[in-house]
Amino acid sequence: MDDEDQYPALQPILRRIPEEWGRNIDIGPGWYPVLVDLDRQLAAIDPDYVLKQVKEEAGELDVRFDTVHGERYQQMRALVRDAAQPAAHLCEECGAAGSLNQSCEGSVRRLCSACAAAAQEGYEATSSDLDTRASLHRIAMQAAAQHRLLTSLPARSRPVP
Ligand SMILES: [Zn+2]
Repeated sequence: MDDEDQYPALQPILRRIPEEWGRNIDIGPGWYPVLVDLDRQLAAIDPDYVLKQVKEEAGELDVRFDTVHGERYQQMRALVRDAAQPAAHLCEECGAAGSLNQSCEGSVRRLCSACAAAAQEGYEATSSDLDTRASLHRIAMQAAAQHRLLTSLPARSRPVP
């Protein structure tokens, strides 16, 4: 990605990824500072830690790593979890405050309204996960009620096939 070349701080992070894994960082530039900060913290615990994957997954920062120091793994894992918190509020493209957006093809990214509008995929802000679950529940309840109503109708009022 060109963005990676324009951001020199990413180079040492890319070199942590074994070459055979493919040295890619699949997140938008808005999250680079979060990653650089995370790398600094991880390296303080294990200077030779290995990165396996950095990507965006359903609007979340997903970082996989490995360390030969098994006893330090949990501490490092906690840092990765903590880094995902700020990323969960930042536009992946520009680093401004962002929220979940869904494209017309159904892919989900965390974007600010300006970047969502500029993207070609037709992103629209989604309601929070909680709202989505609540509305899915409502739809399921309506469908169940409709089903009960249809099956309770006398046979002769049903449409003739
Ligand atoms: Zn943005």
